[in-house]
Amino acid sequence: MHFDQGELVAVLTTQPLDRTLDYKAPEGGCFLGAFVEVPLGPRKVLGVVWGAGRGDFDRSKIRSVIRVLDVAPMREEMRLFLQRAADYTLTPMPAMLRLATRAPGLGDPLSMRKIYRLGSGMPDRMTDARARVLEVLRDYGGLAFTLKELAEMAGVTSSVVKGLVKQGTVREEDSPRDLPYPHLDPDRPGKALTPDQTAAADTLRAALRSGTYGTTLLKGVTGSGKTEVYLEAVAEALRMGRQALVLLPEIALTAEFLTRVEERFGARPAEWHSGATMTERRRVWRMVGQGDAQMVVGARSALFLPFRDLGLIVVDEEHDTSYKQDDGVHYNARDMAVLRAAICGARVILASATPSLESWANAEAGKYDRLDLTSRFGAAVLPDMKTIDMRAEKMQPGTWISPSLRQAVQARIEKGEQSLLFINRRGYAPVTLCRACGEQIACDHCDARMVEHRFLKRLMCHQCGETKPMPEACPACGVEGKLAPVGPGIERLAEEAEATFPDTRIAMLSSDLFGSARALKAKIEEIAEGDADIVIGTQLVAKGHNFPNLTLVGVIDSDLGLHGSDLRAAERTFQLMRQVAGRAGRADKPGTALLQTFQPEHPVIRAILSGDEEGFWRAEAAGRQAAGVPPYGRMAGIVLSGPEVGPVFDVGNVLARNDAPLRQIGAQVFGPAPAPIARIRGRHRVRLLVKAPKGAPIQDAIARWIAPLRLKGDIRLTVDIDPQSFY
Ligand code: ADP
Ligand code: ZN
Repeated sequence: MHFDQGELVAVLTTQPLDRTLDYKAPEGGCFLGAFVEVPLGPRKVLGVVWGAGRGDFDRSKIRSVIRVLDVAPMREEMRLFLQRAADYTLTPMPAMLRLATRAPGLGDPLSMRKIYRLGSGMPDRMTDARARVLEVLRDYGGLAFTLKELAEMAGVTSSVVKGLVKQGTVREEDSPRDLPYPHLDPDRPGKALTPDQTAAADTLRAALRSGTYGTTLLKGVTGSGKTEVYLEAVAEALRMGRQALVLLPEIALTAEFLTRVEERFGARPAEWHSGATMTERRRVWRMVGQGDAQMVVGARSALFLPFRDLGLIVVDEEHDTSYKQDDGVHYNARDMAVLRAAICGARVILASATPSLESWANAEAGKYDRLDLTSRFGAAVLPDMKTIDMRAEKMQPGTWISPSLRQAVQARIEKGEQSLLFINRRGYAPVTLCRACGEQIACDHCDARMVEHRFLKRLMCHQCGETKPMPEACPACGVEGKLAPVGPGIERLAEEAEATFPDTRIAMLSSDLFGSARALKAKIEEIAEGDADIVIGTQLVAKGHNFPNLTLVGVIDSDLGLHGSDLRAAERTFQLMRQVAGRAGRADKPGTALLQTFQPEHPVIRAILSGDEEGFWRAEAAGRQAAGVPPYGRMAGIVLSGPEVGPVFDVGNVLARNDAPLRQIGAQVFGPAPAPIARIRGRHRVRLLVKAPKGAPIQDAIARWIAPLRLKGDIRLTVDIDPQSFY
């Protein structure tokens, strides 16, 4: 659809307005879906032509679109996707549009510009500033930057970079702004697949060729070759001339994956995540829209890229909680992938060794197809899993490695094999206690205890990130020298391991110990090459890294996740423990996983050990069904927050009293109650929970329920449909 110059068009902008605005089409007219720049008050803002003008505004006051941007117009299916995603998550459209335009400089015309990359030789004189520039360039191996970007990343002025250009150490080049991505060749020979893998790949290829929507749950133990199999589905999409998107839960996993893609298809795909440079993000956004990027590997927000013909979406480690975005727009990338695919006739592959109960249930109900890979590739076998009953172990106070676990680690050290000690807690100690008055040091702004980080020599709040130096004296009673750490974090465990196993090489892997994703990646590679005897890690290590020489996993506190009030506590513990255990024995050496626990007879622990996954899912499903909770019922979390607790509660009570729209659909509302974390960043938080029968139109009811609310002052309301974490 085309609008001629002067015709009225409705433009959706990224500004927080509750409606589209009318403008006159510019000289030359514009197409439906065109990205445009429009005047709004004194500013120019980005928008998309959403339809014909509404015409409910004084025509003489209507201004003209300033210009149409030189990018492919938003496709019909993308507009539909944003609309449906907005309806599903109860998000205003401008916020959805912001998600879909997260690339800088979209409107800049295509032209040449100068880029800077590593040259050769060393400068005559090395300064700190110069060294930083070179470090950035080396860190990003081979990538080029704009002058501004490079100077900013190195924290230097642009003259420092220019100085290095004169010396030849940095090279300046002319480059067209955005280059297409190198061609990926699906017909290069892949690895020879096993019969199981071949069967799964054939099924997926056939599904793709159907050219219609469908979702497949690809379940396979860690190391069974799920990645090899879904790469064949990617190949099929590429052969059909359609694009493929692979979502990964963790940037640190991308490097290994990119190498595998390059081996399979002869070139690297486009990368989309927060670690990519602005220049690179812009290039991805444009090339995806033009069809000059066949494949994208990325984080959840890659779902909102303007694909020209998306044929396949893979959600790897689909159970991973990081697919749920919990700030801004609350969405689950796994569910949105299914939504997007249904709109554009694409296939979805959800890959996991330990699927979410939602996906498992959808497969049971026949909504998803299911493929299973049951054995590990090659000689690798699943680890032998056992518990260590902590009630029977003789523990020194302030230690967490039991004698049984110690022996097992010692045996690995003697054989020259690696062990992993897993503890899902960052920092040194979760609690700092005053032995004089009993005070536990808490954050000034949040209802949370400060966690000691000895590595940083500070206390840190894991809610708001606030840090402060470790005090000498108790902030409550003023007594000096009585503050003591309570409980273990990864840093404290490392200290214990160093004392217990002298003369061994110990490596810590925790997201906060590395300045950049790159540094973390380098560390992971070092460990994989055998550069550590003992690895001490948090949740980070559970996610798909390959350590071929690792044969023992010791879980320090298997009970940690069992007690939460979260309805997914059992599911999460089950997934995490099985994922962590899956790190052992990936190559030709069999592995063992030892779980330290105080309740070896707990049903979840027993299910983890027995490996009866189907049995676990069935029991868990029955429990949820009886309670009417997801996936057998629907839930939404409403969080109200504000600087004063009273007014926030008042609003909560008003909502609870006026629950007619909810009752009409058979839903119940619980609360208001203080949220589990009752204060974050100085804001008091009050929560209501809505529970509805499966299939009830919960979004519509909630929209009608909150619509009459007029929030005064600084009170904010957020709606989280299908909440994953209850905080
Ligand atoms: P998953 O994704 O299920 O964890 P991967 O696809 O990463 O499994 O496979 C685990 C390891 O086994 C990888 O190093 C992979 O290259 C190797 N592998 C799997 N299948 C094959 C095969 N058919 N031929 C050669 N290597 C394979
Ligand atoms: Zn805080």
